[in-house]
Amino acid sequence: KIEDMAKFAKFCKDMGFIFQSSEIYGGINGFWDYGPLGVELKRNIKEAWWQDMVRCPPPGPDGQEIRMVGLDCAIIMNPQVWVASGHVGGFSDPMVDCLKCKRRFRADKVQFACAVVDGAPHAVSVEADNATDAEPLLKEKIAKLDKKKSPIGKALKAAPQLEHHAAASIPASWPRPCPTDDCDGTLTEPRAFNLMFESHAGPIASDENKVYLRPETAQGIFANYKNVLDSSRLKLPFGIAQVGKAFRNEINPRNFTFRSREFEQMEIEFFCHPDESMKWYQYWRDLRKKWYSTLGIQSDNLVPREQGKEELAHYSIGTTDIEYLFPFSDEPQELEGVAHRGNFDLSAHAHRSGKDLKYFDEEGWNALLQTRLEPFKDDKAKREEEKKKLEKEEKARFQFVPHVIEPSAGADRFTLAVLCEAYSEDSVPDAKGGTETRIVMRFHPRLAPIKAAIFPLVNKDGMDEAAKELYRSLKPYFNVVYDQSGAIGRRYRRQDEAGTPFCITVDGDTMKDGTVTIRDRDTLKQERIPKERVREVIAQALAP
Ligand code: ATP
Repeated sequence: KIEDMAKFAKFCKDMGFIFQSSEIYGGINGFWDYGPLGVELKRNIKEAWWQDMVRCPPPGPDGQEIRMVGLDCAIIMNPQVWVASGHVGGFSDPMVDCLKCKRRFRADKVQFACAVVDGAPHAVSVEADNATDAEPLLKEKIAKLDKKKSPIGKALKAAPQLEHHAAASIPASWPRPCPTDDCDGTLTEPRAFNLMFESHAGPIASDENKVYLRPETAQGIFANYKNVLDSSRLKLPFGIAQVGKAFRNEINPRNFTFRSREFEQMEIEFFCHPDESMKWYQYWRDLRKKWYSTLGIQSDNLVPREQGKEELAHYSIGTTDIEYLFPFSDEPQELEGVAHRGNFDLSAHAHRSGKDLKYFDEEGWNALLQTRLEPFKDDKAKREEEKKKLEKEEKARFQFVPHVIEPSAGADRFTLAVLCEAYSEDSVPDAKGGTETRIVMRFHPRLAPIKAAIFPLVNKDGMDEAAKELYRSLKPYFNVVYDQSGAIGRRYRRQDEAGTPFCITVDGDTMKDGTVTIRDRDTLKQERIPKERVREVIAQALAP
């Protein structure tokens, strides 16, 4: 549906969904702002997630109720958190620099075509996510160089066999040309580049005051695990959820908001007994995929992909990426990762902080005591003796570090997926008896920025006043708009482009019998209903 992402970004800007950050100063790479429609859309996404995952998650694998609580942590934390989590040491991407134009690239996103011609290696490179996306770009570049009579272009065009490599894996003996079109510089060897943004807390910019903007919200949950447990008296299994900003100094922000330097995450850490962890891993994997479909993402575009052993982080027992087929790539891209993290994080924080982060299954322990001490209930001395024995031999197995399942989603990535998925063009009857093309954003009503638009057919005979009154009566419950300007067909079109599911028109009949027409965005059907029923019809469409 969307062939040109630049055109789509322009549409998003014109409609007030997404603006480039600080555009009046030429913008800043990797940062985006949400306009009046975009902010409503993204809020609705975060609220739907909170409602469906935190307030009202579906029953667990054995039909049990799921216990979930929320958290809102500071963005800047004690840097020890990031040492313990491994981010200070290892949160990096391989990077290459051009020695001439000084541009910097992610090594795994620079793809090379190489060939040996007359005994000497030749290469060109382009920026692309993977070999499939790179292939046509490389061909185009070689053809262009050949046309410009560049010896490398000529040699490569004539090469019997081209090999493709990512910069990270290109053999050391090959030349490494810069992928920028108008630069003939060469690239450095790949080296690790830490993605965390640094700052200083306090007036002195010294190493002791160095802090990081969090690159994920998850670690705030682990650091507070004990506080939550102690204050809420939760029992395993339970989950802690957080929605908030994360920052990564991505080497190459790209594909509109898909890879940004500031973004929002919606993360859950679900703590459970190690023996039950696989069951919960499956629960969250299935639930998270289903959630996207219930909000209108077609299943054809949604691909769960179990990571191969070689891709897994060293601590992860299993990870499933839920991927979406964005229009900018032939291959599906990650919307969310659902990871079985074992006890890696809690153990790491326990080790670094020196705090005991084990869970004590008090209920299980008490139940064991009760059954085992029952035979000695009339002999106090024997009972004490047996209790001591149990404490020595059995209590330890009721104290363990929980395992964690982590569904980690990106609010901005899902917003982009929703925008891409909703965009469509169709043809509708126009005012002159012909047809016209309309752009319509087919948002799920729960996510639609505006739920209903209220129009007077004409601004006279009391219709405008009656429409305003209806608008005011709906405003406390839904995000609704009132529009009285222009032909009615134009007003419908504007709402179709904003993705408003309902348009309600007050006309001459309203003034006689109190009914209004309610038009459905997708079917274009208009129904007459008493104006008192409008609120109920909208509420029904918004039910989870
Ligand atoms: P990628 O491989 O795309 O860089 P990741 O595997 O590093 O992503 P995670 O660390 O698992 O991502 O983060 C969880 C989620 O946060 C991702 O699934 C994505 O939705 C979101 N996310 C991560 N990085 C970015 C980014 N730079 N811009 C927007 N969203 C992001």
